[in-house]
Amino acid sequence: MINDQDHKYRPKREEMVQKLREMGISNERVLQAFLQVKRHLFVDSAFWDVAYQDSPLPIAANQTISQPYTVAYMTSIVAEHYPSDAKVLEVGTGSGYQAAILCALGYRVFTIERQEILYQQALKRFEELGLKIQCKLGDGTLGWAAMKPFDAILVTAGSPDVPRPLIEQLADDGRLVIPIGDIKTQQMRIFHRQGNQVFESLADHFAFVPLIGKEGWKE
Ligand code: SAM
Repeated sequence: MINDQDHKYRPKREEMVQKLREMGISNERVLQAFLQVKRHLFVDSAFWDVAYQDSPLPIAANQTISQPYTVAYMTSIVAEHYPSDAKVLEVGTGSGYQAAILCALGYRVFTIERQEILYQQALKRFEELGLKIQCKLGDGTLGWAAMKPFDAILVTAGSPDVPRPLIEQLADDGRLVIPIGDIKTQQMRIFHRQGNQVFESLADHFAFVPLIGKEGWKE
């Protein structure tokens, strides 16, 4: 068991949550999850002192752990609509932080990562933290057909378009939350499945690393 030095980081985490409130995150369940999950444990110890700043940070394989505000924004969309036993798929495990936040909200969490090193690190991290999150190594643009349907699917990388398999794997009344745009900036879009119809709404702009795969950007 590592010494997580949480006596030092808890006050920084409280400040981060206060800042999220000031930035407009108002869902109390979400804010509680951000208080609970120790973000510093999802980055290299060289970054622990900056882990509670509202910025993305580097992780292995040239990828990033998303900015806390971005994670809170996407999580709030899920929390607004689904009770805590809902089934949620995340595409783009990265550090595992977003998945851990969803887990803290009580969701049944499934997550897919295409980079083997990140997948292995996340598996180890979840085990050490006692988090029951199901992980898969592979192309998340194809979803996880064996585990469908999902009440919510969050894509945490920027896509050129909507991956059809993800829409198909939504439950009735399910929502896909995905940043779509060019390689540099994307607009968050929400696809809400109601029976055989899908309704789309637009939200704010963000900058994500690219979603690479059969239904995303080509390598
Ligand atoms: N959610 C992550 C976290 O909490 O740390 C941050 C995700 S990072 C911004 C985007 C991740 O998506 C990267 O780890 C990248 O390797 C992954 N990714 C990109 N394309 C993917 C794909 N087709 N399937 C699964 N993961 C993918």
